[in-house]
Amino acid sequence: MRYTKYFIPTYREIPAEAEVISHQLMLRAGLIRKLTAGIYTYLPAGLRSIRKVENIVREEMNRAGAIELLMPAVQPAELWQESGRWDLYGKELLRFRDRHNREACLAPTHEEVITDLVRKEIRSYKQLPVNFYQIQTKFRDEIRPRFGLMRGREFIMKDAYSFDVDEEGANRSYEAMYEAYSRIFTRCGLKFRAVEADSGAIGGSYSHEFMVLAETGEDQLVSCMKCNYAANLEKAEVKAPQAAPAEALSSREDEKPLQEVETPDIKTIGQLSDFLSVGPEMLIKTLIYVADGQPVAALVRGDHEINETKLKNYLGASIVELAPPEIIEEATGAPTGFAGPVGLKVRVVADYAIQDARNWVTGGNKADMHLINVRLGRDFQVDSFADLRVITPQDPCPRCGGPIHFSRGIEVGHIFKLGTKYSKAMKAHYLDENGEERLMVMGCYGIGVGRTVAAAIEQNHDEYGIIFPIPIAPFEVVILALQMHEPEVRETAERLYSDLVGKGVDVLLDDRDERPGVKFNDADLVGIPIRVTVGQKGLKNGKIEIRLRNEKESYQVDVSSGTFEVIGIIQKLYDSIH
Ligand code: ATP
Ligand code: MG
Repeated sequence: MRYTKYFIPTYREIPAEAEVISHQLMLRAGLIRKLTAGIYTYLPAGLRSIRKVENIVREEMNRAGAIELLMPAVQPAELWQESGRWDLYGKELLRFRDRHNREACLAPTHEEVITDLVRKEIRSYKQLPVNFYQIQTKFRDEIRPRFGLMRGREFIMKDAYSFDVDEEGANRSYEAMYEAYSRIFTRCGLKFRAVEADSGAIGGSYSHEFMVLAETGEDQLVSCMKCNYAANLEKAEVKAPQAAPAEALSSREDEKPLQEVETPDIKTIGQLSDFLSVGPEMLIKTLIYVADGQPVAALVRGDHEINETKLKNYLGASIVELAPPEIIEEATGAPTGFAGPVGLKVRVVADYAIQDARNWVTGGNKADMHLINVRLGRDFQVDSFADLRVITPQDPCPRCGGPIHFSRGIEVGHIFKLGTKYSKAMKAHYLDENGEERLMVMGCYGIGVGRTVAAAIEQNHDEYGIIFPIPIAPFEVVILALQMHEPEVRETAERLYSDLVGKGVDVLLDDRDERPGVKFNDADLVGIPIRVTVGQKGLKNGKIEIRLRNEKESYQVDVSSGTFEVIGIIQKLYDSIH
């Protein structure tokens, strides 16, 4: 490609609208332009990167035996009503009516459509397993679209759906996708980690998120420094104490009599802990929730955070929300802020840490009142104990007990075992060897294509711009012809250009009539991995310069013997970082 015949509209200023570096750089490097909130045009160079990710994804999905198709973006409401998601999906689902007043939506995901297709087309166990995938534009009306392609409303996703005859088969399909995803992100040149994620009702470790490691990532991940356990913060388990309630005492304290303490205007854990001069670990937080219409009290230690995903899974409820003030008052007899477990009339579940035999401080279920010396068993009962809290850096690894490490990442892929959720709701059956009807067992597997490019930039950049990994760079080599009007410069650059094109290298020839500084800056900003500089000064000594974007040093290479040697060196460099 020749720069003068191409379109890379770069600029220097940091765009005020962009908070994160990848978003800033994608705008400045002329890769994307915003149309409206969360909706972008992929400019030519940006599209080249997107296509490179897509090609890697396509090759690896094909290699794993998945079959490509392409499903519609517009979907009828009936299918979503059948799966039950029309009412559950909420405002992220963009709904509209056509001229016949029929309801429809813009697809945020394709479980319904693929399940509809498969139930109509696949009858026999002989046709299974099967895994269909597509690379398609999704629409999700995200509440806070931000960070450019990282969280858009319209975005490109690779989504795949596997159908198997049984659990075992589904597990194999899942493993195959795990392997394929590992290859995909490795081939994209990214540092990533697969972490266990919440799999809701399915349980076990049948959901993994693939996280590109970056300090600026939105997601927190927890990994063990001794074994290979890794999970996202929401999923990370806290090792349960081994002994029975009130026996597993890490700080056995002598019993003291229960006592009321007046606590006017004290609402928060911090205020209470200061007021009573006790550490927050001596306090119990009592949170009143409504789980599928029923009030439930959840207890966690004052220095711990409740993990609502764990609570929801433990209760087996579909909707769990903090109770509104009227429900709190009804359950506790007190205004919000004074709930405690003593005398509560609702179901009480507690985190394992509450098993400790301490003289706890709790809410008094009366306005401006707390209780001290509250004892489990004597003063309050718990219906059941479970792991209900967010892990902390002080907790041991739930698998091996080793130390854990917190880090940040960007979720670029997600694999998930669906079980029979959709096949049951939508009657996707097959006939087994005995001619009996059985439900297909499904899995679904997504990769955010645009988010992968953004994450690559978030992970690989410096103060001058992007440092693209070569497999997903818009161009692999840029030739800067510093003085295009000088015959020797032009001829050398043109010869190099056509030789590299002939070798199948993606090369951009900067043939613009611009100052050298402008060309260097643009090459750095766009992040092309190999830069070849052809200038009058160098050519006087028969030299051109080759520099890798991620290295400080440059190579002076002889061109007097023709371009052969130069091409050889570029090829070697190319192979070494490809
Ligand atoms: P998130 O938790 O980030 O909202 P999700 O769990 O809703 O993502 P999935 O439904 O698992 O996402 O979608 C599969 C993949 O699609 C994600 O791993 C991510 O890479 C990508 N993706 C999801 N939402 C967006 C978005 N709004 N913009 C860009 N990519 C997205
Ligand atoms: Mg996800």
